[in-house]
Amino acid sequence: INPIKKKPDWIRSKLSNSKEFFLTKTIVNQNNLVTVCQEANCPNITECWSKRHATFMIMGDTCTRACAFCDVKTGKPENLDPFEAYKISNAVHKLNLNHVVITSVDRDDLEDGGSNHFFDVITAVRKKNPETSIEVLTPDFLRKGESYKKILEADLDVFNHNIETVPRLYLKVRPGARYFGSLELLKNVKKNNKKVFTKSGLMVGLGESKDELIQVMDDLRSADVDFLTIGQYLQPSAKHYPLERYYHPDEFKDLENIAKSKGFLLVSSSPLTRSSYHADEDFAQLQKN
Ligand code: SF4
Ligand code: SF4
Repeated sequence: INPIKKKPDWIRSKLSNSKEFFLTKTIVNQNNLVTVCQEANCPNITECWSKRHATFMIMGDTCTRACAFCDVKTGKPENLDPFEAYKISNAVHKLNLNHVVITSVDRDDLEDGGSNHFFDVITAVRKKNPETSIEVLTPDFLRKGESYKKILEADLDVFNHNIETVPRLYLKVRPGARYFGSLELLKNVKKNNKKVFTKSGLMVGLGESKDELIQVMDDLRSADVDFLTIGQYLQPSAKHYPLERYYHPDEFKDLENIAKSKGFLLVSSSPLTRSSYHADEDFAQLQKN
């Protein structure tokens, strides 16, 4: 077991006790909702919740996969909640969100990987919140055929699936997934629905090289991916995948410039960037341009 490296100053997240933070917390709790902000111990929770920005996690809090970097619990998931679509659409309404991110645990136990449930949630959110832009962050739907297509039948704005790391580290970091499977999913989403923006994300600090990161950027661009996020990996506990090093903010800036030169429409690259960090502001900015 390795000791967790001491966090540099730029990793520390801001604290906030604002009214909005507690309002978000109350709405999440009252509606019995699961958020990835809490489940993954996200360092941005005080900042995001103060701005009434939360990422909802559907299909329960238990994942059928066990990625070595992830703090979400693994096991046999519960049955799907038939009221979830209703609850999420109400919470989005009460929080008056401009942009909502909806993600899920992986559900290898379901025949469709949960795509029909995603469809129901997006459709309910859209109906009650016609002005809210909707972003989904999905599992890879590995060995689920073309079930991802059901999600594209719903009215969504951004389809995000995180590639997470470079192919060389997949077996150790993301053993249940396949690098080219994830790329293929992103490519097929764009092929099947040109109106939807596609998005993916990378963590750094797991032992990858700069050349490998650039190769992933090229692969994502050849799969026609529009947006990219790059953030620092934070090891959740001593049992998780060992953190190799912290990147300096200047290195994030450098990666951002490289990614922009490759033609991504939006790039967010900073130590605390997560797939959903500032997703609302970034998307609004893009709509204005
Ligand atoms: Fe939640 Fe995403 Fe913000 Fe983290 S970055 S607190 S997961 S909305
Ligand atoms: Fe965590 Fe997603 Fe991997 Fe499940 S599939 S363990 S939620 S990263």
